[in-house]
Amino acid sequence: MSVFSAPAFDQHELVSFCSDRATGLRAIIAVHDSTLGPAVGGCRMFPYASDEAALHDVLRLSRGMTYKSALAGLPLGGGKSVIIGDSRQDKTPELLRAMGDFVESQGGRYVAAEDSGTGVADIRTMSERTRWVSGLDDNEYGGDPSPSTAWGVYLGMRAAVRHRLGVDTFDGLKVAIQGLGHVGFYLAKHLREDGAIVYGADVNAANLERATKELGVIAVDVAEVLGLEVDILAPCAMGAVLNEQSIPRVRAGIICGAANNQLATPADCAHLKDLGILYCPDFLVNAGGIIDVHHQRSGSADSVKQAHIERIGTTLAEVLRRADECHRPSEVIAEELAREYLRRERLAPVALAEAS
Ligand code: NAD
Repeated sequence: MSVFSAPAFDQHELVSFCSDRATGLRAIIAVHDSTLGPAVGGCRMFPYASDEAALHDVLRLSRGMTYKSALAGLPLGGGKSVIIGDSRQDKTPELLRAMGDFVESQGGRYVAAEDSGTGVADIRTMSERTRWVSGLDDNEYGGDPSPSTAWGVYLGMRAAVRHRLGVDTFDGLKVAIQGLGHVGFYLAKHLREDGAIVYGADVNAANLERATKELGVIAVDVAEVLGLEVDILAPCAMGAVLNEQSIPRVRAGIICGAANNQLATPADCAHLKDLGILYCPDFLVNAGGIIDVHHQRSGSADSVKQAHIERIGTTLAEVLRRADECHRPSEVIAEELAREYLRRERLAPVALAEAS
């Protein structure tokens, strides 16, 4: 397996591998860019089909974290870790402690938080062996950043609706949510409270039932959710759902969801634009979680955190305005803006030295 020639390799600063015979841990940590600060990002556990698939995921996800934190105005770099394994069968306290040792061995360049396949309790177990973890606050949600992620996606959606439809309400709008887990559930809750008609699909019957019973979400088939005739589609399950095969089936005018790396390839954003579908870059609208984690680490007041999350809507509105102005895909504009922030940060000390 080659790292430097891997398709998703983007001059990552650090890619570290761990194999621990005693516990069966096989994991990768990737730090994409630490210009803005230590690389904070989730630790994902997934039964990857191959080592290459795990490497591809961690490289793409860590790069996405760089852009996410930069656009959110956070003093954090981009990093991520993956554990190769099935979280329902392979996760043991010993394995998590070994992951803690692996994180500790990076000396603080990477700080782990929860992600798909890991929860706050798992990060707490890792913290027995490393101080480089985040998201363990004893708040209303026990440190879980998902409600903040959902709130940020909701605010992004509101900005997109204003931009595309010129209205400030979800009343009567139809939204389809793929995945009613930690984020999808809270997103559905906000939308239902605002009068939206919400359709939802989930491969997990218990999660689907909870959303239908508690929120009045209308259950639809997992095979149909992406192609529903709705105003907004919210992918909140997994990555690469918007691809060559699925995009022609999309009937929604707006796509805005929490899942990381929703686009399978960069060309997919241009494809959506050509079809007149407004795509809200995932790394911009799903930043509520990392903003939450940051404010947990710095012990900020809740009002400070909320005000920070509110900025997601403003930034998205700006990106969509610029994208319209220059007729280019929103994802490209958002990436350019993030790179611009990074460039400015890199030049800052030089500019200061020149001025003195
Ligand atoms: P989760 O695991 O709690 O929920 C995902 C849900 O999607 C589950 O209920 C699962 O059963 C369902 N699902 C999986 N495959 C599906 C399919 N093919 N069709 C329909 N449903 C399917 O995860 P989450 O924390 O809610 O995160 C959702 C997405 O948002 C993930 O991609 C995650 O990386 C991303 N994200 C989450 C956060 C956060 O704060 N939790 C932050 C940023 C990004």
